[in-house]
Amino acid sequence: MITDRHADAAVTPEWRQVVRTASGLPASDGAGVRLTRALGTPTLPDLDPFLMLDEFRSDDAADYLAGFPDHPHRGFETVTYMLAGRMRHADNHGNSGLLRAGSVQWMTAGRGIVHSEMPEQEAGLIWGFQLWINLPARDKMTAPRYQDIAPEAIPEVPLGQGAGRVRVIAGAFGGVRGPVAAEATDPTYLDVHLAPGARFEHEIPAGYSAFAYVYEGTALLGVPGDAAAAEAVGREQIAVFGDGGERIGASAATDGQGTRFLLLAGKPLREPVAKYGPFVMNTQSEIRQAVVDYQSGRF
Ligand code: FE
Repeated sequence: MITDRHADAAVTPEWRQVVRTASGLPASDGAGVRLTRALGTPTLPDLDPFLMLDEFRSDDAADYLAGFPDHPHRGFETVTYMLAGRMRHADNHGNSGLLRAGSVQWMTAGRGIVHSEMPEQEAGLIWGFQLWINLPARDKMTAPRYQDIAPEAIPEVPLGQGAGRVRVIAGAFGGVRGPVAAEATDPTYLDVHLAPGARFEHEIPAGYSAFAYVYEGTALLGVPGDAAAAEAVGREQIAVFGDGGERIGASAATDGQGTRFLLLAGKPLREPVAKYGPFVMNTQSEIRQAVVDYQSGRF
């Protein structure tokens, strides 16, 4: 029997294949901050349990200085990951913190907060991401909670031989667990850096939603090292992985300068989603209640 290993690899069911790609869309939020919305768009409204992913990147203060003044949230979690620059966070319960380059803030809005997220710098590059993760019905009205994670508290796993590294924000990679856990959605949040030609693979439980967002270079997502069984995904593009299989694979092209991408995976909640701006509940009547509670100062 002749075995064509290359062909076998292409049809091996254990590798998850990219089933959809989409370019992030230009958007504006807060007091006019320009950003790129990768998830939470008309074409890709959500990916249970993930509701939104924005990238903000600008070295023009006019784009970001006005920041995100006071606004409410209820019913989900926001995860802010800073690559460059500084953002000051303050809420109506007296909490505040400074998010600096490399840090993460994992905020559980629960029953409600009103907060501001403001750049603390007047010049230079500000670059980062904000992800929204849904909460299950039983946790939507939980007490608000913050996890401010310093850059040095986020473990970095080297891929060896100058191949790159993986920052582990949530979930585990290479036996190293990240600082954040969320019980219901069991999220994995990895920041993957691959040198030219380097390969990456990671196991994700079957049935979990998974996607990658490329923010530098081009990633070949699918079977690592097999261009015919991988999808080329470029900067500001999101790639959604199909349900089949438990392994996520990626590689960076041998030419070019390598690639950097976020890998997200989580357990779907499979609950109805009623979404109105910064309120994400299960029913329309819960949304109406959120509006009333916010307007009457009960956040
Ligand atoms: Fe916010």
